[in-house]
Amino acid sequence: MLTPITPSQPIGRFAPSPTGELHLGSLTTALASFCHIKSLGGKWLLRIEDTDTERCDRQFTEQILIDLEALGLQWDGDVIYQSERIDIYNDYLSSVLRPLTYGCQCSRKDLEHYWAHHDQDQLDENEGAKKHLPNRKRYPRQCIAAELDKEQHKLRIQLPDYRIGFNDGIQGLQWDNPQQTLGDMVVRRQDGMINYILAASLDDGLQQVTHIMRGLDILPMTTAQISIMHAARLPAVDYWYHLPLICNPDGQKLSKQNLAQPIDTRDPSRLIAHALELLQQPAVDIDTPTNMLEQAIAQWANSPLQDKQQMTLTSQ
Ligand code: GLU
Repeated sequence: MLTPITPSQPIGRFAPSPTGELHLGSLTTALASFCHIKSLGGKWLLRIEDTDTERCDRQFTEQILIDLEALGLQWDGDVIYQSERIDIYNDYLSSVLRPLTYGCQCSRKDLEHYWAHHDQDQLDENEGAKKHLPNRKRYPRQCIAAELDKEQHKLRIQLPDYRIGFNDGIQGLQWDNPQQTLGDMVVRRQDGMINYILAASLDDGLQQVTHIMRGLDILPMTTAQISIMHAARLPAVDYWYHLPLICNPDGQKLSKQNLAQPIDTRDPSRLIAHALELLQQPAVDIDTPTNMLEQAIAQWANSPLQDKQQMTLTSQ
């Protein structure tokens, strides 16, 4: 007789990059991933994605922690800071991932020249994730045969040239060929800075994250993440969910780039109510953040978000 395997506790996470304060878009992602994982009886981890030393700021990190606490979004366990884990990422690059990496010396100018003479549309033959990030130009693997010194150059990772599928709990079944869409992504810059895709893939595996709920803007990188986690022999993420992006009524995505207002947590209950409304969840009674979240967790449903790519901002 087969012994049933005891399912482990679901693990979700919120992984902000402290390149600015939380805005309504990032707050909505935090709230959705929190309510969703808690509705499954799981843990919610907080990981600060601060490997980009040029764009990240300690002050933003501190403000993010203050804001999350003011909103009652209390994480489980210790906060993880990627800037303190650079040795771990480099260890993976010099061991299990080493055969897949190669040094690259192409400058942006070299690549612009290449792309100007090659029609990307002919190369990008498949649809899938690409539709969320059009006109992405993939790397043509010009340096792979040169066997450049890996320590002295930026490092790329070979991504598979076949279609990878995953079932997105909000966006439906996704198929994409990461080599055709993204090309071999840079995982470490020449100055040693570790890129998002490597750090996030390794940490999601090392933290045994089972459920990832995040913004739709990251969906195009998911097949790359799946490939890197597999190559690093880390446990796969079981469930993916890419949330619709918040847009202004004119269709413009709310982001730090277009100066979305930082959230003001002086009235956290109003913010929670607004974010739940955007997420098309049933209304909750205006109360303390903790009581509102408890009600939101009990009522949480992904179904109103199904197949949606945008949530439109109507009120503030
Ligand atoms: N750090 C990313 C951001 O702030 C999110 C990464 C993720 O959730 O995988 O946009």
